[in-house]
Amino acid sequence: MTRWGMVVDLLRCIGCQACTVVCKQTNDVLPNLWRRVVDCGIGEAPQRQRTFLPMSCMHCGDPPCLEVCPTGATYRRDDGIVDVDYALCVGCGYCIVACPYQARTIIHRNEHEYGFGMGHISEDLGNGLPSPDYIGVCSKCNFCLPRIDAGLEQGLRPGLDPEATPACVVACSAEALHFGDLDDPDSVVSRLIRENRTARLQEELDTDAAVYYIVD
Ligand code: SF4
Ligand code: SF4
Repeated sequence: MTRWGMVVDLLRCIGCQACTVVCKQTNDVLPNLWRRVVDCGIGEAPQRQRTFLPMSCMHCGDPPCLEVCPTGATYRRDDGIVDVDYALCVGCGYCIVACPYQARTIIHRNEHEYGFGMGHISEDLGNGLPSPDYIGVCSKCNFCLPRIDAGLEQGLRPGLDPEATPACVVACSAEALHFGDLDDPDSVVSRLIRENRTARLQEELDTDAAVYYIVD
């Protein structure tokens, strides 16, 4: 089996926001909607250190968002990617409350200069506006699954071939982001997890997040 996952090296992230910008461009979403980098301080003065924490959907193995979705719009693929079927989403917002990582958002109207903010699902009505059917549905990071699926069809390797890898990982010039198959012991992500001290956010909730952080 394959389980796609990400490793974020907190020692390398410089908070440049290249990943959030490319995410916005690639997925046609509002800035910081699918991906954000939190600027935080760790420890007490005078040892206090500034740290940047890149965050997105954790593609949980046991996703609280999926459990509460009343229509089946939220689903988990066999490769571990948690996605939303926009045609089934009724915008109730239960998943937003359930997600412990604040990874989900409902966009209620077209309110930014670049467009609706969900161009990846917008229907071209010929007038430059999105289909009203898609206003009010829930949106979140999908690990750039169109890039992964298209890449696999061409025989590319997600995590190694840039065209088949999430755009944020490719854009990170600090090499703080890594992507690959968590179930493959030879993948880059498995090696990084093996060779470094890592943590997952809110481990105590047993969400089985697919995003690991190298902490030292
Ligand atoms: Fe950090 Fe890399 Fe994102 Fe820049 S692109 S903020 S270094 S994760
Ligand atoms: Fe669902 Fe939130 Fe987990 Fe993503 S991080 S799978 S939105 S519970």
